[in-house]
Amino acid sequence: MAGEGEDEQQEQGKGSHLVLLPLPFQGHINPMLQLANLLHSKGFSITIIHPQLNSPNPSDYPNLNFEIIPDGFSEPQRTGIKIIELLSAVNTNCEAPLRECLARLQAANPLNPISCLITDAILYSTQTIAEDLGLPRIVLRTSSPFSFLAFAMYSHLKAKGYLPIQDHRSEISVVELPPLRVKDLPGYPNTDVNAHSQFFEKIVNTTRSATAVILNSSDHLERAILPELHREFPIPIFFVGPLCKSSSSVSSNRLSENEQSCLDWLDKQESRSVLYVSFGSVTEMEEADLAETAWGLANSEQPFLWVIRPGLVTGSERTWPHLPEGFAEKTKGKGWVVKWAPQQKVLVHPAVGGFWTHAGWNSTLEGICSGVPMICWPRNGDQTVNARLVSCSWKVGLQLEGDRLERGEIEKGLRKLMADKEGEEMRERARVLKETAELCVIKGGSSYVAMNKLVNHILSL
Ligand code: UDP
Repeated sequence: MAGEGEDEQQEQGKGSHLVLLPLPFQGHINPMLQLANLLHSKGFSITIIHPQLNSPNPSDYPNLNFEIIPDGFSEPQRTGIKIIELLSAVNTNCEAPLRECLARLQAANPLNPISCLITDAILYSTQTIAEDLGLPRIVLRTSSPFSFLAFAMYSHLKAKGYLPIQDHRSEISVVELPPLRVKDLPGYPNTDVNAHSQFFEKIVNTTRSATAVILNSSDHLERAILPELHREFPIPIFFVGPLCKSSSSVSSNRLSENEQSCLDWLDKQESRSVLYVSFGSVTEMEEADLAETAWGLANSEQPFLWVIRPGLVTGSERTWPHLPEGFAEKTKGKGWVVKWAPQQKVLVHPAVGGFWTHAGWNSTLEGICSGVPMICWPRNGDQTVNARLVSCSWKVGLQLEGDRLERGEIEKGLRKLMADKEGEEMRERARVLKETAELCVIKGGSSYVAMNKLVNHILSL
């Protein structure tokens, strides 16, 4: 999209000043920075207010201004804490520094005041701040719209008896949200249903009070749920995604030069032969599951590129896990392991033929935009919803069911994806879905048009 009719686009925003507030986790930072780049290309002046936690390197984004605020976290305070408690703490800890920063920015720019805040939906405390300062707030929801709908319907689903999830009812279909089963409803580990309800309600209600919501998806991908989304969120909804396709790519602050080595390794592999394996930036797994993954990969005899982040194994305190004895010998010449990969570049590399993912929403969209079939092992949050969309709605992949991994099941799944006719059919559907995603973001496509409508909406505030 960037580059087309640039002069006309530069005109649109007329230098109007927008402040964007990402939630400080990779899967939320990336789409917010992609949106920032896109809005900058439309002529807006952009300031990103970012907590210290995971803050990007401003020199990677010469078009954006950065303000880094204290978040009151130290490393030990962040580890071992439940996800909802962590996200609630980000809201509480950042509130005062955020107010102070916004006041400072307002005072420093009397001739070009802030015209609007665009904040991550999970930063629900920013709605009150925006109201107190008389600033309009637009929400960016970085996860899948379908899971957002499930958030909005959570209390209803609880009242209907689907929740809390009970083992003997986990396979039952949620008739209100096909094709989800009870076990696919979004949620976090070790957290009761009331804590979920309260957390989701805060996010949903403060989104309903915003002036609009931006979704990182396209009309085409979400066609089935559009009426329900409009019913739950009776404010303007802008589908401007997939942002990884519509915006210039963002560099990941974790990336180090070493990881470029995996692109060199991919250059030496046969076309579509390699399975790329990554479980995202925060998901953890048990040590036993890591061992099953290793043996499943080794036994499948598929070439693989595997991202093992320090801290991937639960309780490993950010150290790098030990791989089973004999694994390195068995996979010599067939596999490459890195601590972090330039994922978007990897996925479009011609040697990559499949993606084993935890089905985070960014990874799911990046997989779609690269046209690679996926094998999903969702853990929590919206991942269970996304995995179901991949395997049952779009049919561009399959899902490994269950909380625990087993090497035989992995081997079977990987062969199906990479070598069988079924995998070939998924690959063909993935190719078509990729083309559709491309059509949405080019000039005249639905996401392109929605982006221009978003610009007009912002200018009308
Ligand atoms: N990512 C990456 N390199 C890696 C693993 C992940 O660049 O080795 C990026 C990936 O491209 C995606 C983001 O990190 O943009 C992860 O977001 P996602 O929503 O998939 O999952 P999360 O990390 O939030 O669970």
